[in-house]
Amino acid sequence: MCTDPTATTAAALSRRRFLANSTATVAGVAALGALPQTLYGAELSKADEAAVFAPAPTTPAEALAALVDGNRRFIAGKTIAPHRDFARLREIAPKQTPFAAFLGCADSRVPIEIVFDQGFGDLFVSRNAGNIAVTEQIASLEFGTLVLGAKVLYVLGHTACGAVTATMAGAEVPGQISALYYYISPATRAAKGDLNKAIIQNVRNQAVSLRDSSTVISKLVKEGKLLVVGGVYDLNTGKVTPVELSA
Ligand SMILES: [Zn+2]
Repeated sequence: MCTDPTATTAAALSRRRFLANSTATVAGVAALGALPQTLYGAELSKADEAAVFAPAPTTPAEALAALVDGNRRFIAGKTIAPHRDFARLREIAPKQTPFAAFLGCADSRVPIEIVFDQGFGDLFVSRNAGNIAVTEQIASLEFGTLVLGAKVLYVLGHTACGAVTATMAGAEVPGQISALYYYISPATRAAKGDLNKAIIQNVRNQAVSLRDSSTVISKLVKEGKLLVVGGVYDLNTGKVTPVELSA
């Protein structure tokens, strides 16, 4: 078995060369390594092909659009899996500049780079059960936005969230698991037994908490350097639906 992690199959390399040639004007400076490692056999549209070589978003609006596009590709089964090879990793090894930061649930069904079709160095991700804005998570996200320059701060909940379900049930749980309840219960109380409403409200509560209680984050928002947004990812469809936050 080959042990060279940089080894590439002949077929993938051939595909890369084809893409590199067909997009020569866009990809003049793009190394072969900037091409996607996995294309899942799907033909790329012109827009998706351009996305492979697209420069990193420079504004909050561009960053949000890149995420929306990535989720669109994911749910359509047309992922381009950008930035997932060793060449990309080596390119960014000295310095990371993720364009978006996430507070997501630790749930194994919510792999954020996959859901938004991104790769190495694109997303600064902080996860815990119930996507709750606790002190250490706020600290991490302040670092991801202020220091690393992420332009969108995205709070991502998901359907069938176990942490929200358990909080709603108020069940006795071992160890320190019930520590999560404190942060999620305002949403479950407001939702009056409707799990999906509680999941949406929890995203809203955590996003507003991040936006308004962190002086670092609220300053970036006021300066127009950062957008704080929320969404709920549907485990059955893969689609992320935006959650409107209060003003
Ligand atoms: Zn969850």
